[in-house]
Amino acid sequence: MKYDFKAIEEKWQDRWEKENAFVAKEDTSMPKFYGLVEFPYPSGAGMHVGHIKAYSGLEVISRKRRMQGYNVLFPLGFDAYGLPTENYAIKTGIHPRKVTDDNITKFTSQLKRVGFSFDWTKTIDTTEEGYYKWTQWIFRKMFDHGLVFRDNALVNYCPSCKVVLSNEDSQGGKCDICHSDIVQKAKPVWYLRITEYADKLLEGLEEVDYLPNIKFQQQNWIGRSTGAFANFKLAGLDDSLRIYTTRCDTMFGVTFMVIAPEHPIIEKYRDRITNIDALDAYKDECSKKTEFERTQLVKDKTGVRIEGLAAVNPANGKEIPIYISDYVMMGYGTGAIMAVPAHDERDYEFAKKFGIDIIEVISGGDISKEAYTGDGEMINSDFLNGIKTKAEAIEKMLEYLAEKGVGEKGVQYKMKDWAFNRQRYWGEPIPIVHCEKCGTVGVPYEELPLRLPKVDNFEPGEGGESPLAKIDSYVNCKCPKCGGDAKRETDTMPQWADSSWYYLRYIDPKNDTCLADADKLKYWLPVDWYNGGMEHVTRHLIYSRFWHKFLYDIGVVPTSEPYAKRTAQGLILGPDGVKMSKSRGNVVDPNNVVDEVGADVLRVYVLFMGDYASAAPWSESSVM
Ligand SMILES: [Zn+2]
Ligand SMILES: [Zn+2]
Repeated sequence: MKYDFKAIEEKWQDRWEKENAFVAKEDTSMPKFYGLVEFPYPSGAGMHVGHIKAYSGLEVISRKRRMQGYNVLFPLGFDAYGLPTENYAIKTGIHPRKVTDDNITKFTSQLKRVGFSFDWTKTIDTTEEGYYKWTQWIFRKMFDHGLVFRDNALVNYCPSCKVVLSNEDSQGGKCDICHSDIVQKAKPVWYLRITEYADKLLEGLEEVDYLPNIKFQQQNWIGRSTGAFANFKLAGLDDSLRIYTTRCDTMFGVTFMVIAPEHPIIEKYRDRITNIDALDAYKDECSKKTEFERTQLVKDKTGVRIEGLAAVNPANGKEIPIYISDYVMMGYGTGAIMAVPAHDERDYEFAKKFGIDIIEVISGGDISKEAYTGDGEMINSDFLNGIKTKAEAIEKMLEYLAEKGVGEKGVQYKMKDWAFNRQRYWGEPIPIVHCEKCGTVGVPYEELPLRLPKVDNFEPGEGGESPLAKIDSYVNCKCPKCGGDAKRETDTMPQWADSSWYYLRYIDPKNDTCLADADKLKYWLPVDWYNGGMEHVTRHLIYSRFWHKFLYDIGVVPTSEPYAKRTAQGLILGPDGVKMSKSRGNVVDPNNVVDEVGADVLRVYVLFMGDYASAAPWSESSVM
């Protein structure tokens, strides 16, 4: 007799639905388990086998916890704002609202067919007014608390998507969405002051149970370093250049300085500098390059010496030349560095090319051949000579700098503030009004949600303007403060916004008086176990921890961390052992597998194809 998996699966899936078998209970006397998986982007392509593996781990845990007597919350929703839907809408003329609704319907039925035990009564769609009202509300709270600011900046701009991208969304100098080359463009940018939370985000890692490589990636992304700030006097002037260094112990080896071509000191001493034309021409060239090209690409070091300005090494009083070079960025640190060619590879290369002195201050290498970056005894360093440990030499130099009043201990972060606006239609409107008299004013809380207007033309404007800027009835408004004529902000939020707090909304998805009921938050938080992709352990995980910590600080959530535990699944590769992609034609459609062998076989297979955290290729013969 043939095993009729279809009839059996249908029978049980039907009964689960009728009996609300997986709906979390209201009973707060029970022990709870909150299992969270990363919610999908409802793309037109539908479900992928990667989704099955991503959800199956916690699917098993959740079912086990139910059997152990826990009250289990295991929800799934849709992260539905963003560019793929919008680009599809522009191409086909179908409104993003309809595209999103259709895709969510398709996804939901596919997921039910695979038999996941999600609590579908808790599902959310981040593009619904009832959801994005609270995304805007959190932003407004941040605005009230001084965590939102606007600044003109050179931004990464994708000419094809017509959108401004964060550094993380444009790695390698390519657009994360369409893979076109990024160009630099000056634009007003809204920022969230995430750097203010850098220390809290690092300290919080000590109280959570994350995979070690996830913790490591977060620490690396935040990139806290301790070092020293020091002022290098400009020779013959009552002025100085400020630098940051983690290696002030090598200061006797500083033989030149490098500043960013955009450094304000060049404008300030325009008249004194004798080769200003050459500097201007170099700066012009740099403006065409992306940050990635400037700092990451392996290439010849280029630069121009500033004639007419020189600096003084605060350690030994020697006059040293100053160069501009594109590998120093204004956005990082102070926009100026001290160069120690004997002990830094990049500085060594630069010094060799420009014929600058190289002074060895740590013994142990052969600086006639290459920079020496190892440890050793301090030499050619006056009062540091003979010291054998880096820590001791740094301590001594810090004392010296403080005594002379030219430097002090300092901390720096690699993480920058979060560029928080996009010039696109399919996103949450930023609830800010621009008034000539009052400046930037928040849209009053009682007027939230600030609705995304229904339009027919969602093409971005020329020069990267938001499509909302074309709608006069949206743009023109009254200032909430003074009642005068004002203009609404027309940019929308980035896709990372709605996923920064979605796990809170699952707890109480229909609440229209607050983002979630305080008692319910107290019962369900923190998320006991969060599983997702390794590609989301920096941006998404850090952004959502930042929002959570802010909500904790203003008394909205009861825990300082959102996720007690975080793991990650490995990719499912194509049968050829390569990452699945449409263009390679090696994508496995889970729907076909379910039709052929049933949902249980599919679910068991993805869990037993190898170590859950490692990548593994799909094997047709193992499934069948
Ligand atoms: Zn693009
Ligand atoms: Zn006003």
